[in-house]
Amino acid sequence: MNQIGHLINGVVVTPEGRQQAVYNPSTGEAHSQVLLASKATVEEAIASAKAAFPAWRNTPASKRARVMFKFKELLEANAEEIARLIGLEHGKISHDAMGELQRGIENVEYACYAPELLKGEHSKNVGPGIDSWSEMQPLGVVAGITPFNFPAMVPLWMYPLAIVSGNCFILKPSERDPSSTLFIAELLHQAGLPAGVLNVVNGDKEAVDTLLTHPDIEAVSFVGSTPIAEYVYQTASAHGKRCQALGGAKNHAIVMPDADMDNAVEALTGAAFGSSGERCMAISVAVAVGEEAANTLVEKLRKRMQSLKVGAYSDSSNDFGPLITAAHQAKVEGYIQSATEEGAVLVVDGRNPSETDKHGFFVGGTLIDHVKPGMRCYDEEIFGPVLVVVRVDSMQQAMDLIDAHEYGNGTCLFTRDGEAARYFSDNIKVGMVGINVPLPVPVSYHSFGGWKRSLFGDLFAYGPDGVRFYTRRKTITQRWPSSGVREGAQFSFPS
Ligand code: NAD
Repeated sequence: MNQIGHLINGVVVTPEGRQQAVYNPSTGEAHSQVLLASKATVEEAIASAKAAFPAWRNTPASKRARVMFKFKELLEANAEEIARLIGLEHGKISHDAMGELQRGIENVEYACYAPELLKGEHSKNVGPGIDSWSEMQPLGVVAGITPFNFPAMVPLWMYPLAIVSGNCFILKPSERDPSSTLFIAELLHQAGLPAGVLNVVNGDKEAVDTLLTHPDIEAVSFVGSTPIAEYVYQTASAHGKRCQALGGAKNHAIVMPDADMDNAVEALTGAAFGSSGERCMAISVAVAVGEEAANTLVEKLRKRMQSLKVGAYSDSSNDFGPLITAAHQAKVEGYIQSATEEGAVLVVDGRNPSETDKHGFFVGGTLIDHVKPGMRCYDEEIFGPVLVVVRVDSMQQAMDLIDAHEYGNGTCLFTRDGEAARYFSDNIKVGMVGINVPLPVPVSYHSFGGWKRSLFGDLFAYGPDGVRFYTRRKTITQRWPSSGVREGAQFSFPS
């Protein structure tokens, strides 16, 4: 069977050791074995990055950016192959995989802007003959640990910006769908990246723990579920590292009685079921304000869901594909079961969709009405094609519900009322807000992150916050006294 190795010091290596099967979730068959890096393999990658750092740090930012320009071209030229690899291991349909890749490429485009982003600040004559400036220096060797659901985009949130800022990078992708991530990293080497600047180690907890505790790792970016994000943040911080750890979500969309209901239904259908709901920005809760709006919304959603097309990644006419693993399929089906047991009303049951391969990990679009806080399907992140509907009487009640939830990643308000929209975006305790925009994923020149237990750390991912995260400020104050001028010792504080 095909083996998926690690990319260390510019070459793919396949050392002996533990392995894990990688599945095609559309058929349920294992097609490859991914190697799980040992502590020693991760240490080898870190040593390679450390050795590459001095020369890379001193390479002009414009030359580092030139590698990114070439990388962007290679990503575009290989887009279909990347989308195929994503589909094969994740199950995403090609139109969705292409969208993910495009958003990743936009992060590469932002990284091409490095000379401008890194030029710092200068003040002349801050004192007699004294100039002062601040510069953004790279940190050294930094690490990224990424989830299964965006195997191309989320790594591209991290390493292009880190690398172009002068750092060397160790990436630990998800062991569930590693092939597209590894393929993309090889393209960056084809673009001219020196060996050792980017290393990819496949693996699990052993690899992650090595990165979190190794003295040569300066910073860690993590994206994944909240329990692991919290663990990563605490462990990395306890070992003196800068850390940003993005976690899970439960994104609510409020539907006001004045909303354009047909538009809201289309937007919710795409945002709830696209990518089988395996997106941290997926809408998983619709909060309907008023009984009439709720009844109309549920009926229109039910009708719209009859034409959802679920199936294998290879058929681009499908709307969405399977879930990532059999275990995850069972977990999502368990949430649907628990909703009926806890008194909610199952309007559309997506279990056992008929048109799919019975060995694939499929769950169809599911709609659950009359859901309340306290029910598992409301409190917990399901991460599947399941939309729950909560009925409330006012917008304030809807906002209180959102604010009380442990997650605060994304949210959206459907309305025609500008005053309500302004109040909502100003006051809601959520990091990314949409007004009639169901997936308000920030563009590459803004930054991405949630509030509450959706993000541990201070800085968001990519964009301006990404530059801050991957650099350390240094402020230099410099004086060149005119020859012959002598000053005596000054005992008062310089002013
Ligand atoms: P996950 O937390 O299971 O895995 C993420 C990474 O952590 C993987 O690389 C994995 O190998 C590693 N990992 C898993 N268990 C570990 C452990 N015990 N110790 C150390 N490392 C461990 O997440 P996932 O299932 O791959 O991805 C889905 C989750 O990611 C969802 O909760 C989703 O909301 C979240 N997510 C969040 C964002 C965001 O930006 N906030 C984006 C994408 C996904």
